[in-house]
Amino acid sequence: MSRGVDSETKIGLTTTVDKLPGIGLKRAHGLASLGLTNLGKLIAHLPMRHEVQAGEAKIAELKPGQVVSARGDVTATRPSAFGRRPRFEAVLTDETGRLDLVWFNQNYLQQRIHAGARLRVQGELRQRGNKMQIANPRWELLPLDGEEPASREERVRPVYPASERVKSWEIETSIAGVLDLALPMIEEHLPESFRRERNLPTLAEAYRMLHKPATLEEVGEGRRRLAYDELLMMQLGVFLKRMHLRETLRAPKLDHSPELDARVRSRFPFTLTEAQDRVVGELVKDLTSSVPTNRLIQGDVGSGKTVVALYAMLLAVASGHQAALMAPTEILAEQHFASISRSLEGSRVRVELLTGAIVGHERESLVGRLERGEVDLVIGTHALVTERVAFRSLAVAVIDEQHRFGVEQRAMLRVKGSEGADATGSALASTPHVIVMTATPIPRTLGITLFGDLDISTIDALPPGRTPIETRIVMPSGRAGAYGFVRERLEAGEQAYVVVPTIEGSGSHEDSDGGLAGVRSLLKELEAGPLQGRRLAAMHGKLRRDTREHVMERFRGGRIDCLVATTVIEVGVDVPNATVMVVEHADRFGLAQLHQLRGRVGRGRERSYCLLIGEPKTPDAIERLKVLAETNDGFVLAEKDLEIRGPGEVFGSRQSGASPFKVADLMRDRELLAMARRDARGWIERSPALSRAEEATLRRRLFKVYGDSLGLGDVG
Ligand code: ADP
Ligand code: MG
Repeated sequence: MSRGVDSETKIGLTTTVDKLPGIGLKRAHGLASLGLTNLGKLIAHLPMRHEVQAGEAKIAELKPGQVVSARGDVTATRPSAFGRRPRFEAVLTDETGRLDLVWFNQNYLQQRIHAGARLRVQGELRQRGNKMQIANPRWELLPLDGEEPASREERVRPVYPASERVKSWEIETSIAGVLDLALPMIEEHLPESFRRERNLPTLAEAYRMLHKPATLEEVGEGRRRLAYDELLMMQLGVFLKRMHLRETLRAPKLDHSPELDARVRSRFPFTLTEAQDRVVGELVKDLTSSVPTNRLIQGDVGSGKTVVALYAMLLAVASGHQAALMAPTEILAEQHFASISRSLEGSRVRVELLTGAIVGHERESLVGRLERGEVDLVIGTHALVTERVAFRSLAVAVIDEQHRFGVEQRAMLRVKGSEGADATGSALASTPHVIVMTATPIPRTLGITLFGDLDISTIDALPPGRTPIETRIVMPSGRAGAYGFVRERLEAGEQAYVVVPTIEGSGSHEDSDGGLAGVRSLLKELEAGPLQGRRLAAMHGKLRRDTREHVMERFRGGRIDCLVATTVIEVGVDVPNATVMVVEHADRFGLAQLHQLRGRVGRGRERSYCLLIGEPKTPDAIERLKVLAETNDGFVLAEKDLEIRGPGEVFGSRQSGASPFKVADLMRDRELLAMARRDARGWIERSPALSRAEEATLRRRLFKVYGDSLGLGDVG
């Protein structure tokens, strides 16, 4: 035994696996191929699940579905080379019953297992008709004369992520051999009283519970600790960053009074709903303070977010500052510009539009006026942040449909404010209040993690007088019927949208496979066929700005009956007389996107319809469309979407990288997340920089994981 722990080899968590007791060179290579190069990494390699092995029992007591263990006499064997896979069968009998054993592709067993042998087997028991069977059991011959081994006890076994080169059981024995050595070296980062109050085991104990659990309850307990740690770390990072923002940045403190409130409201053609009023109240509190606002307003499609944003922007203007509204598409920016200009007609507020379509002299002049403070309210696209645009004094920046932007753009708008304005004479950098809006409700669990540095306001009710939208899934064979229905609605004086995935299309959509309808081809087809005589127009991102504005204007005025469009109309477009939405190839769109599209109808008093034409091919796609047909509630949809796709994908599409968690599961661990969030908030309030001596380990671990991604490098 030269590889034992002797006094000369001091073992630590960074000791390479080949130097650990009980791990030979070959095994060490195998482990290294999984990245398990040293003791610490080996211990951090967690089981993906656990298997309960029932204790050894009499055959009659074995339960199907479990991994069981039994011993008995082999009473018959039968090799069989027939069929596709050669098999070897044996019958095991004890005084209580009989059990069938079958091995595939292991014909050598004929030489090893004979009738009359005594055998102990282990494997998953299945019921086949009235017989009990184990396929490919593990087996061991017992001595026929002499002493038999004691019977096995029930055991919980870890199952590890493994590979061809190292099997799970090899990892299991490797870890089991060094666990006792490693545990005392695992440093705890939570104070004992804190840990006890939350009923959490120590970190070392948690690892023990996962690698060598006595019971399944222990597995749960160990998992809970590690999941909590991950969630707590993330939340601490979020609150630390937020604290830093608050301490180093200042935003203009805006005026507010009952008179001002009344003046702003007089600009709206309706009374705000209770939900809108509540959110306005939350915003007023934010904006009248010099702590920079960072608020997410979430509200389902059509809940009336724009007017709330307008309220905030008008407060900025009333205090002598500027405001900006950024939208993800030119069409939406143009529409916001049109409707906000209408609301502000006859007022002194100077409103302008800045998009990529505004160029040359017009653009230069606008940029100059923004910089000199001669524009109060600017509405635009990302052109607002990507171009050399500077503000004299930007106090409120609103980002509409924020889910369509990257995280960077939000950050860039924040920077915009600090460029021009330093008039306060304050030593702290000035930044605008930032409000982001989304109709894709981030499920609450994700909401508080991903957007953890945001406060969240929810507009949870629609303005009065809306009728729910009826959604139907239409198979391609039902297309003609669907357009017949569209025709009826148009003839009744209502309007429709038809959405297709592309402008040009590919092949004919009547091809059952591969052919994709495009705006142009479908427009022709509908004009010539089912919608003959109705006034149709195309709408997509490649149209010139004036054409686009002209078409939207005529559609709004009822002089066009039906728009055939790409998803450019997905967000924001608001025409109450439109009552039918047809989506071609609906199975190609995501759930959130379909919900947004559907939100273009159901904005008036007439009953509205959404017809999803498609042939969903995967179970996920079928599930998505079904869920959509069942509910109009964006919050329910978002939670379902998360369930179907999993948070990994949701993370992936929104933020860079996959879910940062190894153990925590945002669906399963909601309560743990809420607890971690509360704890992190309290912690940072008590110790804003985590600089106490007893926090050193926690701080080191936190920065290791989140230092870069949260930009905590400068927190000091
Ligand atoms: P979204 O939240 O999807 O951005 P909008 O702000 O576009 O919703 O509002 C949708 C429609 O509802 C618009 O036509 C808007 O004028 C109207 N609206 C908003 N608030 C109210 C209200 N309180 N009462 C009546 N209509 C409202
Ligand atoms: Mg909107």
